[in-house]
Amino acid sequence: MPGQILEPGQIEAAANIPPFLHLPGRDLFRQRAARLRKLAEGHPLAGYLQLVAELCEAQQQVLDNPPQLPGPAPEALARSREHDMPPIAFEALVRADGWLAALDALLTRFQAPSNPAVTAALHQLKGADPAQRKAWGVGLLSGQFDLLPPALAPFIGAALQVAFSHWLLALPEGSLVETEATVLCPACGSPPVSGMVRNRGKHNGLRYLACSLCSCEWHYVRLKCSQCQEGKRLAYLSLERDGLKGEEAPIRAEACPNCQAYLKQCYLEFDAEAEAQADDLASLDLDLRLAEEGYLRHAPNLLLAPGGE
Ligand code: FE
Ligand code: FE
Repeated sequence: MPGQILEPGQIEAAANIPPFLHLPGRDLFRQRAARLRKLAEGHPLAGYLQLVAELCEAQQQVLDNPPQLPGPAPEALARSREHDMPPIAFEALVRADGWLAALDALLTRFQAPSNPAVTAALHQLKGADPAQRKAWGVGLLSGQFDLLPPALAPFIGAALQVAFSHWLLALPEGSLVETEATVLCPACGSPPVSGMVRNRGKHNGLRYLACSLCSCEWHYVRLKCSQCQEGKRLAYLSLERDGLKGEEAPIRAEACPNCQAYLKQCYLEFDAEAEAQADDLASLDLDLRLAEEGYLRHAPNLLLAPGGE
């Protein structure tokens, strides 16, 4: 069907992807970079958002021309399928060597700005051996942030994201099944970075959770905590911007008094261009507000130095 533009639902139907999932496009990192550059205009953290945009450009180049990134073996995929487990589960793959070439490729492609902190971080990364790099990766993905220097986190995170998106997009048909652990990514088992409330077609009004690692999105009902699954007393907090009322804010945090966790939601109805990772990074002021109220984030943004700037 040359020239025909397919709606997201039709693409999935055509590719036999289960309807509870949205797979990212092959240009996901380029789109993220473009969104970051747009969000950087007039933003107090413009320099930082531009730097992350450069990192996303490098991620796209690695995804477009990937080095050898050995992923799960066919037997491992068959086992995951048999036991309804995520096919590219991060716990095992981050401890294997498969993703390390993505870090080398990323360090080669990244156009580093002349910034002493970035130069020092890149120097430390380039000099680290595979065991050290894996230990940092494990620390980042398992939430043990004291295991890695904060300045290295965005680069380790970016390399892992490329490898996992590469594996996600290469999965054989039928690898992804709806699992019971709906608060974690059905592909890689990571927690979501944010939620996307869609505004078009048959997905209008549905919420999808966006994976912090592989960028897969999966359906998750609204008005339910994405950590403890409690549906009562959820609060929706937003920052006042451009005189918009709370119910028109394009990004709001769903905060749960039961487990004290929160997750930001992008409402595409109010900003159709929103991108899960980019809009999360551009709304760190909302995180500060939630921290003041005593709420905790349960998944990091892997492109942000934990506790750093
Ligand atoms: Fe994932
Ligand atoms: Fe909760």
